[in-house]
Amino acid sequence: MDRRTFIKTSLAGAGALALPGMTLPSLAAAPKKGAVLKLCSQESRLPGKTLREKLANLEQWGGSGIEFGGNAVTRVAEIKDALKGTKLKVAALCWGSCKGDLVSLDMEKRQKGIQQIKDALTAAGELQSTGVVFVPCFHKQSDLKPEELDKILYDILPGIGDHATKVGSRVLLEPLTKLETFYINRLEQAAAICNKLNHPGICMMGDFYHMSREESDQTQAFVTAGKWLHHVHLATGKARILPGQEEHSYVEGFKGLKRIGYRDYCSLECGIKKGTDPMVEIPKAFEFLRQQWKEATI
Ligand code: MG
Repeated sequence: MDRRTFIKTSLAGAGALALPGMTLPSLAAAPKKGAVLKLCSQESRLPGKTLREKLANLEQWGGSGIEFGGNAVTRVAEIKDALKGTKLKVAALCWGSCKGDLVSLDMEKRQKGIQQIKDALTAAGELQSTGVVFVPCFHKQSDLKPEELDKILYDILPGIGDHATKVGSRVLLEPLTKLETFYINRLEQAAAICNKLNHPGICMMGDFYHMSREESDQTQAFVTAGKWLHHVHLATGKARILPGQEEHSYVEGFKGLKRIGYRDYCSLECGIKKGTDPMVEIPKAFEFLRQQWKEATI
């Protein structure tokens, strides 16, 4: 089965996200220049008793950015203060799905959800973060069909995107493995939404853990995301632990990032092998990733 046939087959029955006639960007096109590997970690992955300690560790290991959870909304002053005197910047805010409220048929819930993501975007703007990670729904958070969810997103995202650009941020749609959601599993599905809306405030991200389960070609997946890609999560494909702690290559994905001239963050969103020390293992993971980036020649 060639790739085109595979895509057609694998998309059958995927609802309105079946992307009829979507042409994938060619890998033969000239790659963009200027890609950089900016290593980053979620706050919760970092060792340290206080945020200042976590930041000091991250900076010592050559990290460029830190990713916070949705609770950053109430911590803007604390985060700004902790970052003072460091070279670290705020990467994405990992906000999530708000229990699927934004795609709920209960309009009160939906409006509350929309307000909450707008508040997160405002905080993200104040922190000069790269965006707010959004998952429309996990399993069991919506009974709607993909084509019905598409309609809701096309209805609500332009207004949310307008708010995002006004406050200097963006929404980052995150595709997840089918183990976690029935809706938006591959990067090309999120890219189709971004392309259709064509709004600077509505963008996307890719997560190596989910991609290793759902994408047949990691280079092509990132190239298809193209200019809409503004965040990346790092983890191995099976145990979802630190890069280098189990057999998992990032080279093919990194080739895709280099081809699109990617300059945003690659952030650890992962566990750690039982019994190992993050003070030792995170710098090793960063070194491993730098090596993989070098090996990703295009
Ligand atoms: Mg993720």
